[in-house]
Amino acid sequence: MKIDIKSLSESELTVQLRELGEPAFRGKQIFVWLHKGAVSFDEMSNLSKSLRELLKERYFITVPQIERKLVSRIDGTVKYLWRLRDGNCIETVFMKYRHGNSVCISTEVGCKMGCVFCASTKAGFIRRLTPSEILDQVLFTQIDAGAPISNIVLMGIGEPLDNYDNVIKFLELVNHPDGLNIGMRHISLSTCGLIEQMDRLAQSNLQLTLSVSLHAPDDATRSRLMPINRVANVEMLMKACHAYFQKTKRRISFEYAMIDGMNDSNWQADLLAEHLKGMPGHVNLIGLNRIKESPLQPSRRMSVFQKRLEQHSVTATVRRRLGTDIDAACGQLRRSAMETGKERNEVMRNENLAKNRSGRNP
Ligand code: SAH
Repeated sequence: MKIDIKSLSESELTVQLRELGEPAFRGKQIFVWLHKGAVSFDEMSNLSKSLRELLKERYFITVPQIERKLVSRIDGTVKYLWRLRDGNCIETVFMKYRHGNSVCISTEVGCKMGCVFCASTKAGFIRRLTPSEILDQVLFTQIDAGAPISNIVLMGIGEPLDNYDNVIKFLELVNHPDGLNIGMRHISLSTCGLIEQMDRLAQSNLQLTLSVSLHAPDDATRSRLMPINRVANVEMLMKACHAYFQKTKRRISFEYAMIDGMNDSNWQADLLAEHLKGMPGHVNLIGLNRIKESPLQPSRRMSVFQKRLEQHSVTATVRRRLGTDIDAACGQLRRSAMETGKERNEVMRNENLAKNRSGRNP
């Protein structure tokens, strides 16, 4: 069995190259090539031919293929559907902001969390991504977009804390000075609320931003929307959040997708504010993306809800929506590709998309 070379840290590579009788600096040389996006060992021109042959025998390099690419005409947001080595597909979104380019990446193929409003979970869970497959999304998006990426959000398909070890390894890789060198403060990780892993993350004391998908401040509503709430309810989750803040002193961001008649009442804003007492949290109000598998509708009370939170001195922002013309809700692109199972290697521009989807998006 060949080894996935891009999932190795620089020090692991150095050790393995030493074992092959190579000098210590070889590990670093190969690490640099891989993190520049080398797709074959033959590109590594500062290695001898014989070493390259040896590497080919022992290792493989992951190279995702662009299965589909949707480009927003409005703001340049790009949504990629990548095909992985084993044929599975995942999504990545590239977004342009004034403060730099950002990429939203997936951590699993599918998701087992079962949130009722989320398209990523509808076809179930297939497998966790490897550190290299998580990294490749940043690497090859940057190469394809031809623009440097300065911010990363782990908010694509999957639950990052369900793939804890590989996600931590990815963070180590992407943060490395000989690699993409993206600072932890430029990385956000979103979780539906796996409290044990949140505690573990707090202990690791990484300077990333934790986002918690709260979506409801009361157990009755949250359990209807998110099955995880039946395992760790709002009280347990908020306790884990307070502990996380105490340990890391990092402000937590709370995601709140606003759903008509479900989580948008005044009493829910009041209860949410109550939960955040003693902790400088930030609430991100998101307009619900409609998905075809669910009857839930976006709320019409977003600004009232936001003002109510502000009256309680809770900072709340309404998330700016990018790429609305290509904005099939998270996980939708993969779902549609799974359903049609065709159009491989096609680059579908938004002109086609607009035709295909007219009337389907909010
Ligand atoms: N599993 C992680 C990260 C992936 S989802 C998590 O749950 O946080 C990224 C964010 O998008 C989460 O806050 C999720 O709840 C939200 N989301 C999923 N489907 C959505 C939809 N249809 N409309 C609005 N937000 C949605």
